[in-house]
Amino acid sequence: MALLHDTATEHVTSDLQAAVGPERWRVWFDGSTDIRVESDRVTVGVANLFISDYLKSHFTKHLAAAVRARVGRDLPITWHVQPDLFQKRRAANLADEAEAMDQLPDSAGQETKPAPSSPPAAPRFTLDNFVVGPCNQMAYAAARSAITAPGKDFHPLFIHGGCGLGKTHLLYAILHALETRSRLRVVCLSAEQFTNRYLAGVRTGRLDAFRHHYRHLDVLAIDDVHFLGGKPATQEEFLHTFDEFEGSGRLIILASDAHPTEIQAVQHRLISRWVSGLVVHLSAPDVQTRRHILHTKAREMGRTLSDDVVHLVADRVQGSVRDLEGALTRILAYAALLKQPVTPMLARQAVEGFIVTRRPRAGVREIETTVADFFGVTIEDIHSSRKARLISLARQVTMVLAREMTDLSLAEIARLLGGKNHTTVLAACRKWRRLLQEGTEIAWTDKSDRRALSAEALLAHLRERIRR
Ligand code: ADP
Ligand code: MG
Repeated sequence: MALLHDTATEHVTSDLQAAVGPERWRVWFDGSTDIRVESDRVTVGVANLFISDYLKSHFTKHLAAAVRARVGRDLPITWHVQPDLFQKRRAANLADEAEAMDQLPDSAGQETKPAPSSPPAAPRFTLDNFVVGPCNQMAYAAARSAITAPGKDFHPLFIHGGCGLGKTHLLYAILHALETRSRLRVVCLSAEQFTNRYLAGVRTGRLDAFRHHYRHLDVLAIDDVHFLGGKPATQEEFLHTFDEFEGSGRLIILASDAHPTEIQAVQHRLISRWVSGLVVHLSAPDVQTRRHILHTKAREMGRTLSDDVVHLVADRVQGSVRDLEGALTRILAYAALLKQPVTPMLARQAVEGFIVTRRPRAGVREIETTVADFFGVTIEDIHSSRKARLISLARQVTMVLAREMTDLSLAEIARLLGGKNHTTVLAACRKWRRLLQEGTEIAWTDKSDRRALSAEALLAHLRERIRR
């Protein structure tokens, strides 16, 4: 039995690894989680509470899908903190980073070289092979502008969007272009590397070298900055790095899976600096862009796919660009194994069981219509800033559901709901998160009837009406 469970654990782990992608795997799982599949449950040991919350909210669905696929049914998943993991990981990271620190130039005045362990600006990621569509055109335009004149029109550039939508691709594309064209001093590293190098600097008494290195670059790109959440010391250090860049015509570029104001446990001073530049959002590609991406990626691999095949795959795989790449690789592997040409039939077989779909997303219009109708108010009321209780209840609920059921950013939702400020939407979402956690009952009076539902039941009811 133990063997069986070991095998299940191995399979589930490798499925999960494939689903989250190498980068996230390295940042969030490798060496810092302990996943075990047992006959009646799945347990996940994690290094600390911060990681546990993050993993729970971001990866439970991937883990559950892997368990379902491998075990054949759903199992309850429990998360617990396993402090020894933290020690292990910290020790390993600090050893790496101390080594990296040793290779930094010694004191101020010496020439700054890119950090030796920062990955080379991979030419695999260029702007030429970045497929542009409505989902990413703002980010693409910002990247172009950053390359033409870094730091001239905006500082910083903040790129946010879900996993596998091209944030890292854009960071490296910008840096690669700058480095080859103008030989600027550029470095890209993950927020985790930044954190570890900072800690290593503190420990080895080489903070000066660390600071000199990062504060005197022409362009500094930091990937996955949501990692800084809950790390006040590194945030403080980063704040100073940031201020050194301010007004110097140099540029910091940041990527994150959430909008600056939505990253948990980050100081206000840092958030206000992050939003002071240009914030651009990457959303999931629409069907046209998915087709375009599939054609382009196949061409890069020296293959040509028929329109039939591309349409079929683009319809079925509605997730991220990384999901599309996964589907394509799978189809080509299938064709090679079976020694058959890529027909729609073969493509269908290959992507079966791999279908990554997003739940059909609702539009703000549908949401506000349903909510207004439910509470007996008008859409104009929701768009207004009237404070009457029923109206502000309807307005808040609309914001919360729009945030949950659409791919729109806070700012976009705010704009569509009568040109509000994104902080209003954020405040509503935070307030409702609390109401949900506390199981608060929401009472209101409509057409002289007094009604009450728990916050959760109210949202569930509205969600269902919207989906209908
Ligand atoms: P993120 O950092 O947002 O999680 P990545 O930048 O790692 O995502 O992108 C995941 C994969 O998808 C990479 O192989 C990347 O090259 C590819 N990709 C993402 N967006 C595009 C795009 N618009 N055009 C071409 N390839 C893309
Ligand atoms: Mg990335």
